[in-house]
Amino acid sequence: MEKRKILVTRPQLPPLNEFIPLLADIWDSRWLTNNGKYHQEFEKALANYLGVPYVVLFANGTLALMAALQCLRIKGEVITTPYSFVATTHSLWWNHIKPVFVDIEPDYCNLDPERIEAAITPATTAILPVHVYGNPCEVDKIQDLADYYGLKVIYDAAHAFGVRLKGSSVLNYGDLSIVSFHATKVFNTIEGGAIICHDIKTKKRLDYLKNFGIANETTVVAPGINAKMNELQAAYGLLQLKYFDTVIDGRKHITEKYKQGLENIPGVRYLDEPQEVDYNYSYFPIFIDESEFGRSRDDLFEELKKHGIYGRRYFYPLISEFPTYRGLPSAKGLDIAFEVSRQIICLPLYPDLADEIVDLIISIISEMVQVDSNKVPVKVLKTYKEKRKFPKEK
Ligand SMILES: *Cc1c(COP(=O)(O)O)cnc(C)c1O
Repeated sequence: MEKRKILVTRPQLPPLNEFIPLLADIWDSRWLTNNGKYHQEFEKALANYLGVPYVVLFANGTLALMAALQCLRIKGEVITTPYSFVATTHSLWWNHIKPVFVDIEPDYCNLDPERIEAAITPATTAILPVHVYGNPCEVDKIQDLADYYGLKVIYDAAHAFGVRLKGSSVLNYGDLSIVSFHATKVFNTIEGGAIICHDIKTKKRLDYLKNFGIANETTVVAPGINAKMNELQAAYGLLQLKYFDTVIDGRKHITEKYKQGLENIPGVRYLDEPQEVDYNYSYFPIFIDESEFGRSRDDLFEELKKHGIYGRRYFYPLISEFPTYRGLPSAKGLDIAFEVSRQIICLPLYPDLADEIVDLIISIISEMVQVDSNKVPVKVLKTYKEKRKFPKEK
């Protein structure tokens, strides 16, 4: 018998019996892609559910990022974070834009707004922050800087589907926001993504850009790409939306169980739930402080694997460490991001993860701790804020 494997995530699928009639309808209509009826319906349903003005569907989040940069004619230099999935920076590279990495803040691992200003040059045209793990960036500070220096703001909100800040979707901030509907994300259409924009003119331009730049039968207005979502995925997405609230409830339950079990383990930190935020519980990252935990993050990663449990070191290494980017001047001195990337491990999290598995993971972690008996017992601090090693620059 094959050993059971618990992966960091497990995609949620809509009920098959509800999908089959939609497939039958698509079979009858023979309309498979190119802004079909399910595509139109899904865009409207998403805008309505999220509480945003316009949604433009894409084949995936990466193409959405690339098209967003094209749409706003971003060029020169763009300020971004090294602590993300590679697609964030790759989208700049594909547009011949120079990434300028700025360090993160340690509380939520997002781009540190206090450090952005020092990285602005005459070539800077935009800021590309990421709402890491779905926790909102400091959106007001970022917007103030952007307004002051005349920069665009594009959020990589790949993790932030469904997150609300002060009662409004976090996707309403910035000039554009990009979400991903990849199978591993909190909301999936197998592959897929979208751009959230604020006006119909921008939506139209994005519609052209994702369809080769075609405006009508005889007019091509821009060098667009093919990045359209098909009808099968749009229909599947409509069903997913019906069940999304239940998905969040399930994720919240697992998250709370983890927090309860881990709260008194020395050297293990998790993120505080941010204030004024309705969170989507998209990930459960923990940070291992080797000096307190007595073992390294990689020791824990390997130990879990021995039990068939596969955490993910998300994000490690930093984007700025990869060959394409490591030669950039801004790839150096990203001390907080570097340290965090050596401490991070995301634990398995999905709605139907069994409570017994969560208990098992907690017991594996608590049994690994090696407290140095010569040391004065350490007061267990729950948040990194209280014990952080990286004081913010004055
Ligand atoms: C998943 C992800 C992307 C890419 O989205 P795809 O739909 O997989 O192309 C971009 N940025 C971040 C932060 C992601 O996690």
